[in-house]
Amino acid sequence: MNANTPITALKGVGEKTAKLFQKLDIASVGDLLTFFPRDYESFQEPVTIETATPGEVCAVYAAVTAIPNVKKVRNLTIVNVNIRDASGNMQLTFFNMPFLKNVLKPGGYYLFRGLVQTGVKTVGPGNAGGRPKIMEQPKIYPLDEYRKMIGVLQPRYSLTKGLTNQAVLKAMRQALTFYEYEPEYYPAHIKAKYDLISYKEAIASMHFPVDFEQLVEARKRIVFDEFFEFILYLRKNKELTAKLPNPYPMFETADTVRFLEQLPFPLTKAQKKVWQEIREDMGSHFCMNRLIQGDVGSGKTIIAVLALLMTAANGYQGALMAPTEVLAVQHFENIKEYTEKYNLAFRPVLLVGSMTAKEKREAYGLIASGEANLVIGTHALIQEKVQYKKLALVVTDEQHRFGVRQREGLAEKGDMPHVLVMSATPIPRTLAIILYGDLSISVIDELPANRLPIKNCVVNTSYRPKAYEFIAKEVSLGRQAYVICPQVEEGELEDLENVVDYAEKLRTALPAHIQVAHLHGKMRPEEKKRIMEAFAAKNIDVLVSTTVIEVGINVPNATVMMVENAERFGLAQLHQLRGRVGRGEHQSYCIFISTKENKDTMERLQILNHSNDGFYIASEDLKLRGPGDLFGIRQSGEFAFRVGDIYTDASVLQQASEAVEELLKRDFELEEVENRFLRAHFEMQQNKFII
Ligand code: ADP
Ligand code: MG
Repeated sequence: MNANTPITALKGVGEKTAKLFQKLDIASVGDLLTFFPRDYESFQEPVTIETATPGEVCAVYAAVTAIPNVKKVRNLTIVNVNIRDASGNMQLTFFNMPFLKNVLKPGGYYLFRGLVQTGVKTVGPGNAGGRPKIMEQPKIYPLDEYRKMIGVLQPRYSLTKGLTNQAVLKAMRQALTFYEYEPEYYPAHIKAKYDLISYKEAIASMHFPVDFEQLVEARKRIVFDEFFEFILYLRKNKELTAKLPNPYPMFETADTVRFLEQLPFPLTKAQKKVWQEIREDMGSHFCMNRLIQGDVGSGKTIIAVLALLMTAANGYQGALMAPTEVLAVQHFENIKEYTEKYNLAFRPVLLVGSMTAKEKREAYGLIASGEANLVIGTHALIQEKVQYKKLALVVTDEQHRFGVRQREGLAEKGDMPHVLVMSATPIPRTLAIILYGDLSISVIDELPANRLPIKNCVVNTSYRPKAYEFIAKEVSLGRQAYVICPQVEEGELEDLENVVDYAEKLRTALPAHIQVAHLHGKMRPEEKKRIMEAFAAKNIDVLVSTTVIEVGINVPNATVMMVENAERFGLAQLHQLRGRVGRGEHQSYCIFISTKENKDTMERLQILNHSNDGFYIASEDLKLRGPGDLFGIRQSGEFAFRVGDIYTDASVLQQASEAVEELLKRDFELEEVENRFLRAHFEMQQNKFII
């Protein structure tokens, strides 16, 4: 079995299961082995009811006190069970499992495991503070079976409806047994210096770690490989970062000056400085290769518009590439409005995947003839059919979502155009140099002055009814709200909120006239576009979404950002989400709901209250986390490394970069390593775009 063996070669994976795997982008055994767990569950010793902590998953061994109570609410069957041990009582609720009435016998002892919560106040004996401890939908285990699992880390995979964790485990075990690995690709001195275990061991331990330490080692090797390959790739494309003579020298024209005068706001000092740097670049002897780093809301778009306007005014074409259709369309609408309002020298066209063949052909024509001097779109911009007449500037927004290859592809469309990339991800200079090669870096370190600071609160789940009331109030004032959930749909073993069910829940919780819609990455592009447009047009009041809305969306009328399971997100990512509100004149609010009520989690989330500086937030977050938080939480949802996270794994990134340098000194060696590396990672070569 090798990387390309189809997964149907595994026992138990038939056509039907293969289709489900396909939904997760798993077609081959290689895909399967690099489909790493989303997190790991560790089964703890059972605790007494008294010591079971709300907000945590606990196991209790207790007796059923009475015959379970079954009731029907609409089409839902609810079974309520009371249990007791020597220390106290607990209430259990099960949905659509009416048979439990006959299974759970009064007086019988069972092991229940689930998320402990505090219920609403009731009068009853033995409840701390009158609020009983409850568990919804706990799992039931025979005690001896449970005992066997204690201390072993159980992998949990991101699933899709119909595919169980158990099915993935079974397939994975087989794949691990029969896979024939390529030989080690790093020379021994590199392996020793950076303390790397073998790829084979790493893959096995990522799925079935014996203990936490082994998992940390495995992860390090995988992350090292990811970064190594990426840096190798950057190295190979040195010409991208080399200083090339400027084929498109430009002069500043009256267009940009007039536009700036007519804009309703002055540029901030930081924006002025960056604009100055860009003007100089585009007029200098060298080709521009510049990164603009600026926190969310710092006003990067206007800088891009200025650079594109200067390009158009000099008789050239410019392109603006966004990572999603939603964002591309938003830029297009926005620039069209500027063009009309300020009579700008743009003739913009949109080019996105969901356009009809006829619309696309029309756009291609306008681009090839040079009639269109500004092309806005997604990666459709770099497809082969697009021929430019005189492309001189390429701007990529939120560029870390693109593959290096895509960026390069766009550069290849023209005859080495100027390149401007914009990013909201705060990273220290040392890392930026590794990640972006030799791009010059401009920083917008100031927000426009007219912003009201966003009001934040970090609360537990009992605050939800109040939060809903608050959202209803804001909507009645004409505002809009975002609600973020960590996952798309319900999966097995899930204790996290999901977009689909949550939207449904909100529809019942909020007054009927409030329009609730949902959005997530698995939806078709046209569908996403339609929903975003409806939200921008105020036809939707509350948008329940995954983090797909994290990048770039600008709806200034939205004033509430509520995040469920906030503890599951890296603070840098929460900060990005927060940047979606507070973009207009109205006071904006963030509500971070944490299911974990423990002190550490709450303290960590409080950092968001004290700072608006994305970089500070990310580094504080890392300081407070233990190694146990390495899994399941991403600081940056942006850099598309599979496992590695540029914040969490900054030191590994540094090491991988050093390793490449070292091998480069003896280049025959690097080449050999590279060839072996690519062979071993063949399965990942097809559709990969890192960064
Ligand atoms: P980001 O840097 O996150 O891409 P945007 O470019 O979308 O931010 O800008 C956010 C909002 O701020 C936009 O509505 C934009 O028109 C506005 N804006 C940009 N620059 C200024 C400024 N100097 N003063 C006031 N508002 C500004
Ligand atoms: Mg932006």
